[in-house]
Amino acid sequence: MADEAPKIRVLIAEDDPTSLRLVEVMLTKWGYQPVLARDGEEAWKVLQADDAPKLAILDWMMPGKDGLAVCRELRQQKDRPYVYILLLTAKTHESDLIEGLGAGADDYLTKPFSREELHARLFAGERIVAVQEELTRAREALREQAIRDPLTGLFNRRYLEEALGRELRRAEHGHEPLGVLMLDLDYFKDFNDTHGHAAGDAMLNHLGAMLETHTRREDVTCRYGGEEFVLILPGMPLDVASRRADELRQAIGQSTVAWEGKGLASTTVSVGVACFPQHGTTGEALLAAADQALYRAKREGRDRVAVYAQRVHEPV
Ligand SMILES: [Mg+2]
Repeated sequence: MADEAPKIRVLIAEDDPTSLRLVEVMLTKWGYQPVLARDGEEAWKVLQADDAPKLAILDWMMPGKDGLAVCRELRQQKDRPYVYILLLTAKTHESDLIEGLGAGADDYLTKPFSREELHARLFAGERIVAVQEELTRAREALREQAIRDPLTGLFNRRYLEEALGRELRRAEHGHEPLGVLMLDLDYFKDFNDTHGHAAGDAMLNHLGAMLETHTRREDVTCRYGGEEFVLILPGMPLDVASRRADELRQAIGQSTVAWEGKGLASTTVSVGVACFPQHGTTGEALLAAADQALYRAKREGRDRVAVYAQRVHEPV
């Protein structure tokens, strides 16, 4: 037997028990899963749940919160999934209908209505909901593309700047430290020249995967550009961040990467460490400090970790 598609849930809010029961029977017969509410307050609760139905049939006239009020309040919530609202009304004046649609209803039916008409309008609603969901998926996919580096799947530089600002505000507010690591592959140009760019890509990919597995859930791991990576480590003080940097350096140095069955290669990394608040209070300052530390690690021979040190004495 083929798997049956899950039934589409439809909210019916109606204060008249006979009408409620009638619509419930119709919906069930048409293959929907009815969710019942006896007044506007109940309907509101159902619509606030995480798994709220995407289709709602609301009676306009209900005691307490009426269908129109539910409509209005729902439309003020911009960050929730779209709910298609079909308003049921005994009102037949044009001005009433304009008011109903103005409150955010997608469609309306005047009581008494025919079964066929309700069925047809629900079907139209289903189509709108499907299009809305498709739009949401597309928007999420676009957002994901905009903040990810396509090669490694890590966050990109654009997202790094956004995340660093956010994490700094949080650190400041909570009086917590924040570690920043800037990490660079040693002799990557030579690696590419020797093994080719496909191997270079495999190495970057491998490094991205290592960084992901060696960080905590709250850390933000980004490809900063080329062979340079940045890690944001919320809540991490300087000594712990330095130790973490060295563990990463060792783990990467001991690992090897295979590419297209052609070979096995290893590499080392240099890491610069900076920390909020002692090395800077802005994202730019922290990145500059980590970059300067990285530069020192390179100059002192690579495959090492360097912590940002402010120069106390100017060179004579
Ligand atoms: Mg009513």
